[in-house]
Amino acid sequence: MVNRDIKGLIYDIQGFSVHDGPGIRTTVFLKGCPLHCPWCHSPESQGFKKEISFMDMKCIGTAKCGLCLKACPEAAISLGAKEWSNINEEEIQHIAVDFDKCSKCDGWPCADSCFPGALAISGKEYTVGEVVDRVKKDMEFYRHSDEGGATVSGGEAMSQFDFTLNTLMALTEEGINTALDTTGFAPTDKILATLPYVNHYLYDLKHMDSAKHKEVIGVPNELILKNATELAKNGARFQIRIPVIPGFNDSDENFKALSDFIVSLGSAVDTVQLLPYHRFGDVKYERLNRKSPMPPDILPPSEESMKARAKQLTALGLHTVIH
Ligand code: SF4
Ligand code: SF4
Repeated sequence: MVNRDIKGLIYDIQGFSVHDGPGIRTTVFLKGCPLHCPWCHSPESQGFKKEISFMDMKCIGTAKCGLCLKACPEAAISLGAKEWSNINEEEIQHIAVDFDKCSKCDGWPCADSCFPGALAISGKEYTVGEVVDRVKKDMEFYRHSDEGGATVSGGEAMSQFDFTLNTLMALTEEGINTALDTTGFAPTDKILATLPYVNHYLYDLKHMDSAKHKEVIGVPNELILKNATELAKNGARFQIRIPVIPGFNDSDENFKALSDFIVSLGSAVDTVQLLPYHRFGDVKYERLNRKSPMPPDILPPSEESMKARAKQLTALGLHTVIH
């Protein structure tokens, strides 16, 4: 029986998503991930707890506002840099957040006092029922797109297993097409338990060398590969997602091993999605006062190299797209 009262920690819910599974979808992004991919472009998805973020371009300046300076009980907020604002057409003084002093205090008064939303809490608790109600608001879009529906994503959604399973069950009960976006790093019995309630798995594969996988991402890959095989054997449908990271997994040898593995999953694989590395997430690291772990000299792969990889996979009979 579905429990719609279970709570999960979510950092975003995006409507009208066209890259998170078939058709038009609403994607629910859960917080927390046990993997540490250095190229992750959603640093706000990594931690399992709420955190504060600061977007300086939304701050209207301490002269006109400054409410957060008084609101913070830990004196974690102080006067920051003066910068020219194109929006206000004047120089304004921003605030600076000392993230080490921030105690993530009760009620998050800084974010509460910041009406322009420059200071915001990353992470909000939702019940399963609240998520389903939000997803149902976009029902018209799903009806008018081929296999549109809802995608449960992360972070790693399987890390909040009870919430994820019950959300997938409740969506299925409502007749909504479901997708689960996962790294596959989860106990096999738990991932198999999702099978009756998932129409499509968006399944990440990164590197076939387990030692390299562990060295760079923090966990080995055996469980991920085993879970993909078990899901395929039991009737799952997949979109396999491969982030293409220059210098990490874009070698001929790794691509050959990846494609052999994908072919071994047989007709379970609908599509292979190649995701070229990009640096769009750098600004999000700044908002959380972190630095992107990716060295600045790692550049996105060229369009030609992406097309060449896609061609290789297509030649093996795999429907391949680049996003
Ligand atoms: S969460 Fe609390 S301690 Fe942290 S910056 Fe905001 S008001 Fe200060
Ligand atoms: S409350 Fe928000 S807008 Fe006002 S000074 Fe602080 S960060 Fe800027």
